[in-house]
Amino acid sequence: MAVRRRGLLVVALVCLASGCRPAPSSSPPPAPTSTQSPTTTTTTVTTTPTTTTTKAKPTTTTTTAKPAVTGKVVVLDPGHNGGNASHPSEINRLVPAGRGQTKACNTTGTATNGGYPEHAFTWDVTKRVQAILVAHGVKVVLTRSNDTGVGPCVNERAATGNAAHADAVVSIHADGATATSAHGFHVAYSSPPLNAEQGAPSVQLAKDVRDALVHDGYATSTYIGSDGLSKRSDLGGLNLSTRPSVLVECGNMRNATEAAAMTSAGGRQRYAEAIAAGILSYVG
Ligand code: ZN
Repeated sequence: MAVRRRGLLVVALVCLASGCRPAPSSSPPPAPTSTQSPTTTTTTVTTTPTTTTTKAKPTTTTTTAKPAVTGKVVVLDPGHNGGNASHPSEINRLVPAGRGQTKACNTTGTATNGGYPEHAFTWDVTKRVQAILVAHGVKVVLTRSNDTGVGPCVNERAATGNAAHADAVVSIHADGATATSAHGFHVAYSSPPLNAEQGAPSVQLAKDVRDALVHDGYATSTYIGSDGLSKRSDLGGLNLSTRPSVLVECGNMRNATEAAAMTSAGGRQRYAEAIAAGILSYVG
């Protein structure tokens, strides 16, 4: 765990320095590393101040610490889509949502009071989580390929995770609670579970993501769920999943403090690092 955390910290620092363009996606470990010999890792750490070492390392060094996650498959589901609002008939059509329910194909999502839309937030955070996971050797599949399209519907999003036989499926959202004082994140999972993967594996994934967010200083929700976790029976993407699946509501876009964090690139990077750490803990 300590090694993984340091690896993520390296990513964080490098991202801050580089402006965080998505990392090259083709090089899971073993990555070419010119600065670090596999046999001298501890020597390097003991002879060099840790902070100096982490700031100076190129991104390739982060890939050497995570052999356990190489080849794992993670499906990331960025909530909503940029074209949803202008295609109401497509988005409002009813689709199967599990437990005998039907729900709208998809929704437009919420926005900050300043007009920053949820779909843009979820897309940006998802791309940042993807970059971190790929740098650790994880195979990442997204449920949508851009932020200008329509849908996909919730049942199609679930089908993507199922078809990929994902080791973990994580939907990324932000909430729009009307009370501006409401704040904090929560992680939802299907309950009661409809299959084995919605049971203990999904609960564990939810806890790992919750713990990573708490570790990075995020407050649990003040207005929904308990201790950062929320049992849900009404979310189609979770109901229809046959893989370990959770949905993260990163915070309340109507809360001024959280809206400010979500609107800034640095704030989104912090969310991404915490979510990625939780996913890596689960699949590792
Ligand atoms: Zn949402």
